[in-house]
Amino acid sequence: MPTSSELFTVRTPQQAQELLMQHFQPVVRAESVSIGEALGRVLAANVAAPEDLPTFRRSTVDGYAVSAADTYGASPGLPALLTVVGEATMGQMADMGMGMGEAVLVHTGSALPDDADAVVMVEHTQSAGQQEIEVMRPIAAGENVFQVGEDVRRGEVILRAGQPIRPQDVGGLAALGIVNVLVAQRPRVGIISTGDEIVPPDHTPHIGQIRDVNSVALGAMVQQVGGLPVFYGIVPDVRARLVETAARAKAECDIVVLSAGSSVSYRDMSVEVIHGLGQPGVLVHGVSVKPGKPTIIALADGVPVFGLPGNPVSAMTIFNLFVTPIIRALLGASERGAHRVQARLTRNIASVTGREDHVQVTLEQRDGVYWATPVAGKPNQIFTMVRATGVVCVPLNANGITAGESVTVRLDA
Ligand code: AMP
Ligand code: MG
Repeated sequence: MPTSSELFTVRTPQQAQELLMQHFQPVVRAESVSIGEALGRVLAANVAAPEDLPTFRRSTVDGYAVSAADTYGASPGLPALLTVVGEATMGQMADMGMGMGEAVLVHTGSALPDDADAVVMVEHTQSAGQQEIEVMRPIAAGENVFQVGEDVRRGEVILRAGQPIRPQDVGGLAALGIVNVLVAQRPRVGIISTGDEIVPPDHTPHIGQIRDVNSVALGAMVQQVGGLPVFYGIVPDVRARLVETAARAKAECDIVVLSAGSSVSYRDMSVEVIHGLGQPGVLVHGVSVKPGKPTIIALADGVPVFGLPGNPVSAMTIFNLFVTPIIRALLGASERGAHRVQARLTRNIASVTGREDHVQVTLEQRDGVYWATPVAGKPNQIFTMVRATGVVCVPLNANGITAGESVTVRLDA
């Protein structure tokens, strides 16, 4: 096995991504869920409308179903006189039969009689005795009628594989009587925190200890992207324990994420443990990203394994760069840009050529323009991220960005 320092060859983010994708073929596994549980899930197959909607002609107003021809030339001075032969009851067929010179009382959403081709709004009529109404203006055929298939046509693809299901989508499915949909199974992402100094969030750390930020923060990121976090707890810096936990996570999950211990000091055993998990082993150790340089990317017998730096800002930055796309690939999620806005920088951001910087910023709107201000902080400060509204990426080959320049800010959800 190569030693950890031999494996440490810094790659660009793109090279790292490509190396992993050369070895990894994501397979989307589908499952059926009810529409009540489908929100946010990613569709695994296109959905076509099984029927026209509406399936019958409906009135869009309260009024009288008529034959448009009977109203031609009608005016307040010379209204069209029609005989009301019935009332369309909501939820019933309107099969009362309606001939020339006749009308049927209808309500918003009720079915139209076969011989009606338009609906006169009640406001444009007046009563003229027991069974008669006067129509005060002419109406065109089709007016105030919700036609068969006007909302959606039978056979039309209404939702596409790869798209996340939104509230309006489950509404549309319900309208068509589709109560179950095929969605991608949530990829299981095993999360392991390592480090002798790490204690659970509900413990009071003594001096030298810190609470585990990464398990819960990375777990939340998994959930936000659509995966299922599986927590393996905090493992001390004891090789055998780490090997055992990582092997269990690899056996039970689609992706494994370890945080901390990813650099090259003698205590940082992650790279060797990860390399020993399966074939082909470590593909990348070191990416030209700040924060997050000591990142490990591996594939162990088909399971992507990530060794993230322990500092929470680094861990989350690297998760977003490399783990999020893999979860999305396993979901078959179609390309969708994160929410982004254009802003101008209030201050310089320093960088060096050959390194991609991810910088937390706050946003402020002045005179219709967004201004982005970098949040001061080190990668071990989780509150750098808590205070930020978004992230600016300084590209690999840029040498920093100057105050006043326009930047794209990726908004955190
Ligand atoms: P390492 O990657 O092990 O060198 O850790 C880098 C820094 O991240 C150290 O200061 C660790 O104490 C800190 N750290 C490691 N794991 C966590 C965690 N789960 N939550 C918060 N901080 C962590
Ligand atoms: Mg450590």
